[in-house]
Amino acid sequence: MSFRLKLTLLKHDVELWSGGGSGIGRAVCLRLASEGASVVVADISEQSANETLGSLPSDLRGQGHMAAVVDVSSKESVTKLTRYFQPPSVCVNAAGITQDDFLLSMDEQHFDRVVQVNLKGSFLVTQAVAQALVACGAPKGSIITVGSIVGKVGNIGQANYSASKAGVEGLTRTAAKELSRFGIRCNCVLPGFISTPMTDKVPEKVISKIKSLVPMGRMGEPAEVADVCAFLASDDSRYITGTSIEVTGGLFIG
Ligand code: NAP
Repeated sequence: MSFRLKLTLLKHDVELWSGGGSGIGRAVCLRLASEGASVVVADISEQSANETLGSLPSDLRGQGHMAAVVDVSSKESVTKLTRYFQPPSVCVNAAGITQDDFLLSMDEQHFDRVVQVNLKGSFLVTQAVAQALVACGAPKGSIITVGSIVGKVGNIGQANYSASKAGVEGLTRTAAKELSRFGIRCNCVLPGFISTPMTDKVPEKVISKIKSLVPMGRMGEPAEVADVCAFLASDDSRYITGTSIEVTGGLFIG
């Protein structure tokens, strides 16, 4: 029997998901839409965003979804996006990229691009959504950023990615301190290794090695990350802010 959260932020509340066109972002869109939320699926790829949009249930009265194109690393693009609709009471920063290489040979451009999308993108979206919520006097909000366990422990070949993911935790803790007085909670989820198009790029040999390190013995599913996001979006987590929740099957338990 599966347990469903009762979200109190339903019906007229809007939820914004960056990176909603694929993997974890898509799973989160599905989970929250199934709870009755109206979802804005925002992604750099119009086609992916529209594919997610087409898969969302919209059975409840007042529920309406939309797809939007955004490049989270561009302030202009993020500002344009957040002008389209009422401030979202829940925002999930799920957009992310990898451009792996060893530290000794990593291009400066690859370092910059990953930090621009993963870290600066989370900053721009968090700032725009928080500004909109504060400006309209919204009583509460929940901003969730998808970090990564490798932001805590590092990962060979991912100096850029692990730095960006460590950065989003610092960003989130600071945002939580500054925004609590406006009723806005900010938290991270830290996935371990989840089966998505991002990890499809990883060679099978490496995946087998990863699985052998996970106490639960398998990769995670996007829906398992989405379930934690749904908890952080809901009032069931109303006294939780500035924290990071690991979703790793036990990988790297201290
Ligand atoms: P994914 O399937 O590749 O999804 C990422 C989405 O972000 C894609 O739809 C991608 O579009 C979009 N995107 C890329 N650059 C963007 C930009 N500048 N602006 C807006 N959207 C952009 O990967 P995922 O595994 O679901 O990853 C989701 C989040 O989880 C990421 O932040 C990732 O770092 C994090 N994460 C994943 C894992 C894992 O094991 N999968 C583990 C830890 C953390 P395109 O496909 O068109 O590029």
